Amino acid sequence: MARFFQQPPKNVNSSDPRGYGKLLVTVSTPNKLPQLASRMQFLTQSEIRRMTRDCAEKGGINLAQGLCDMEIPEVVRRAAQRAIDEGPNTYVSHLGLPELREILADKLVRLNAVSYDPATELIVTNGASGAFWAACLNLFDPGDEVVLFEPYYGYHLAHLRACGLPAKFVRLAPPTFEVTEAALLEQIGPKTRAIVVCTPGNPSGKVFTRSELEVIERVAVSHNLWVITDEIYEHFVYDGKKHISPASLPGIYPRCITIGGLSKTLSITGWRLGYCAAPSGVAERLALTSDLVYICAPSPLQAGAAAGLRALPDEYYAALARHQQDKRDRFCEALLTAGLTPIVPEGAYYVLADISKLPGTTARERASALLDQTGVAAVAGSAFYQPTGGGPGETLARFCFAKTDGVLDEACRRLETLR
Ligand code: GLN
Repeated sequence: MARFFQQPPKNVNSSDPRGYGKLLVTVSTPNKLPQLASRMQFLTQSEIRRMTRDCAEKGGINLAQGLCDMEIPEVVRRAAQRAIDEGPNTYVSHLGLPELREILADKLVRLNAVSYDPATELIVTNGASGAFWAACLNLFDPGDEVVLFEPYYGYHLAHLRACGLPAKFVRLAPPTFEVTEAALLEQIGPKTRAIVVCTPGNPSGKVFTRSELEVIERVAVSHNLWVITDEIYEHFVYDGKKHISPASLPGIYPRCITIGGLSKTLSITGWRLGYCAAPSGVAERLALTSDLVYICAPSPLQAGAAAGLRALPDEYYAALARHQQDKRDRFCEALLTAGLTPIVPEGAYYVLADISKLPGTTARERASALLDQTGVAAVAGSAFYQPTGGGPGETLARFCFAKTDGVLDEACRRLETLR
């Protein structure tokens, strides 16, 4: 039922406080509307958002959605505020602010050992997701196959599906989630066009080793595949492990779309700032797609992020990893005490844990029972696994531990009541 009012709003008075004037006409929705496109019919609300909503309704502690409670560095906030006052606030280059691209290119050389020309090979995108979407649209034709390591980030799979790209899954087994050449080769066929590498991994926390990346390099070179990375958790690595950018391997570099973002590093998930580095001809295509879909990433926020990246010492990133490792350890202890055995992650800020002791037959039911019993929300493991082969996700849930100490302590206390 739609209701149409006299427009534009006129005098606002007590009998018509919103100034909408008198109701003109009420129109009921017709029974039959033109049909929706079939392309997106597969898409349902993500488990991450569903649990976030259920958690909010129940006033629980949201360990479902992957947002970090860390404070935004002051230099970043101040610079963005200044940019809102003084500009830029208008559209900027679809490639991103030049100063941000330069700082990101410097960072990629210094911390990731990969070199990209900020003028032609690196662009700022609307989050890492914006970069991934542009890559899917530009690298593939419908029907091309793309390899995902399972457990996978559900949004990667959904992007592929939205572009008509069947995914092939290489299931990795906990606790190491080791990649073997044989398992990877099994999923490569004549239609395979790319391998997606999310390192450190969401949801597994897996940090790909050099020898695993060498396996990917060999397979990508011998089968002429693209490699698309998602390195948004690059600074969240624990136990002295090192993040290795796949593009730092010479065989991967020329065929790599290196994707990263500032959301997690600077705790600005809502600013939607990501980036993508690729060979110049490809970067240009991706930039044209960014321009088409959203013109540019938010301009004053790019200025804030640029100032922050310029000012923050490397110790900032080291401290980030130390603090999160401490939270990981405390949280995994609590999971153990609760009888929810964790698969202790090497990186990122999620932990998969065994929730089979909770009532229910699916991970969704068990995650809901967990929320009801403890007020702690987690994402059902089935969001990261195919239902085939026993659906290992059905006994798992993903928890985000990047929370303030007070929130994390309370979540631990509640979970420990399950012991
Ligand atoms: N990447 C984050 C996660 O995995 C947030 C994504 C989202 O909210 N959809 O939770």
